[in-house]
Amino acid sequence: MVFRFSGGGGRYRGGVSVTLDTPLRTVVGDRSQKAFHKAFGYTTVADLLGHYPRRYATRGELTSIADIPPGEHATLVAEIVSVSTRSMRQKRGSVLEVAITDGTGLVTLTFFNQAWRQKDLREGARGIFAGKVGLYRGTRQLAHPDYELFVEDPSEQAQEEWAKKPIPLYPSTSTLASWQIAKAIGVVLDVLEVDGEPVPESIREAEDLAGLAWSLEHIHRPTEQQDWQRARDSLRFQEALVLQSALAVRRAEQQSVESVIRKPGADTNAFLASLPFELTADQTTVINEIHDDMGSSHPMTRLIQGEVGSGKTVVAACAMVTVAQTGGQTALLAPTEVLANQHFRSLVKTLGPDMTARLNPVLLTGALPAAAKKKALLAAASGSSHLIIGTHALLSDSVSFADLGLVVIDEQHRFGVDQRETLRQKGQHPHLLVLTATPIPRTVAMTVFGDLDVSTIATMPSGRSPITSHVVALADHPSWMTRVWQRVAEEVANGRQAFVVAPAISPSVREDEHEEEVASLEEPEPRALASVEEVLPMLQGVPELQSARIQALHGRMPTEQKDDVMAQFAAAECDVLVATTVIEVGIDVPNASIMVILDADRFGMSQLHQLRGRVGRGEHPGTCLLVTGAEQGTLARERVESVAGTLDGFELAAKDVELRSEGDVLGVRQSGVRSRLKLLRVTRDGDIIDAARGYAEAIVATDPTLSSHRALVFEIARHLDQDSEDYLEKT
Ligand code: ADP
Ligand code: MG
Repeated sequence: MVFRFSGGGGRYRGGVSVTLDTPLRTVVGDRSQKAFHKAFGYTTVADLLGHYPRRYATRGELTSIADIPPGEHATLVAEIVSVSTRSMRQKRGSVLEVAITDGTGLVTLTFFNQAWRQKDLREGARGIFAGKVGLYRGTRQLAHPDYELFVEDPSEQAQEEWAKKPIPLYPSTSTLASWQIAKAIGVVLDVLEVDGEPVPESIREAEDLAGLAWSLEHIHRPTEQQDWQRARDSLRFQEALVLQSALAVRRAEQQSVESVIRKPGADTNAFLASLPFELTADQTTVINEIHDDMGSSHPMTRLIQGEVGSGKTVVAACAMVTVAQTGGQTALLAPTEVLANQHFRSLVKTLGPDMTARLNPVLLTGALPAAAKKKALLAAASGSSHLIIGTHALLSDSVSFADLGLVVIDEQHRFGVDQRETLRQKGQHPHLLVLTATPIPRTVAMTVFGDLDVSTIATMPSGRSPITSHVVALADHPSWMTRVWQRVAEEVANGRQAFVVAPAISPSVREDEHEEEVASLEEPEPRALASVEEVLPMLQGVPELQSARIQALHGRMPTEQKDDVMAQFAAAECDVLVATTVIEVGIDVPNASIMVILDADRFGMSQLHQLRGRVGRGEHPGTCLLVTGAEQGTLARERVESVAGTLDGFELAAKDVELRSEGDVLGVRQSGVRSRLKLLRVTRDGDIIDAARGYAEAIVATDPTLSSHRALVFEIARHLDQDSEDYLEKT
């Protein structure tokens, strides 16, 4: 569907008017624009105005100089008694020093490299000055104070009002201070013409929200607290509506295209009959949902979430058989080589020999030798293979399909919407199935995956023993580590296998950025993390493990070596696997019965839950020992204890999200929503998201192309960081 709007009324034309789309440069000048671009990547007026204050300070009560305590914010009405500039002692640059008095004492104002202020700050001028009071060489001073000079002396009431006015404090950098940002925003707000309201009037009325122009003005230049609160609430709702509208448009668009109908048949039945177990009720439900979806003429776009081991693979395999039966191919995209390999193996096993022969699965990864790759490419292009399993290599231009009917994406949160779409473009509106083992709280699903229908496999296949988890708190019981290795040795002696997980590869190399995200939450003091390269020799020295076969696995190893180690572990030729989080997703070794996670507090809660899902997958009960040095009562310790305390992945995911900054929330960053969520918090603002979704559906139902909601379209385009024309074109 292609639609366009005529004209671009209100958009910047040769300096006539300044709107949200106006390049920043034309308003604040080249130098300022460059500074903002360098610091924050901003290029337009909308970018700058979307730089909302982090918080607001109040100037405080008016005080007299005699009474001001150092270290506090103070607001003074005073007269300038002297002005001087001097060079800095250590560095290049100048200091402007301005002494002021109110008759009760003297205070010095200091400004670095701002000699230009001399033209306003003249001896004898009176004004109101606010800032944090510091002591420098025995005199009280205000560094870079906020001030306003009087043209004529204002009334007492005006002085009080000024003192009460909230001061916005912006996220700043070493090159752009908060006050500089405030100044640039002020310049922009003075000339801004807001053209159109993204939130329709009826909704603003129903929800008691302010308009965009008012909100932008008052979030940046409030006169009192209520102003910025109302502005923030209104802009937050707008954010939710924009997001939900974008998703609603995408859903509507998906429903407007035609896909090949894929109905289950004899092969599907034969496959289901061949399974060595009964499907769980949830598996059956999801299989039916998939068949309903694929049996309609519109593409399926379905997310299946289910804990590790809940049996998603069988469900996906069933969909693949149905697609193959109608002549179509499936492409399965996995996040890593190890997982692609494992999917290949487990699909071959799940499909059974007959169906494997029919589907002729091939592997297509970057690590494949040239000849094998060529063969796989040919199998995909000719249609001789009905199942192509691979990594990012599948997205390459050189990959084409004879009849791509189904795209399956494993562990969606590692892939962006763009990648998902790149693969889908290789077919005629193929059906889409996204599998995730990470439980996603409802509001996150609505925000990040709002264009997908969600199925949940909540019950585990029966006969699975639950995992027992314990916290090994080294802060309280340092000697317990010995007992941990004894437990591992006991399992190995019984013929079982063990995972030992460490956050780092070597003392200086970490496996992934995730760990850092979590670490930055609390900024604990730097502490050496357990690493694979150190733990391996240490374990080899444990007396009870003398005869155990111990191997290391981490992301820096060559693919072949990784696969080799994994294959050995899967074949029980290795007893203890010391690994980083590369084992997090999907690895299936039913004989593994114990997992030790070192420095468990350095992982996210969902991640810990994922990790422990690797044990207890077979007939043997699983044990997970969460080792932590975190002290009792700390947030780090609390997180680890939460994981030990519940097996409910959804509960942990929700807690995890609460404890993290929003930008890091599972998938938000990679989802195309990116860091564009400014005021909306997916966990806190569930009600707003719900309401916005309802409104968005209603809007799109009556106006699927949003042709009478132009301002909303512009906001959507901004949100997606796309040119609005491009966005419209794509839609
Ligand atoms: P997931 O992909 O959700 O982690 P899998 O599909 O790999 O889970 O299933 C894990 C294991 O459980 C596999 O060995 C699979 O054959 C088995 N399994 C799947 N469904 C059932 C079931 N309904 N009953 C018994 N075992 C099952
Ligand atoms: Mg799986």
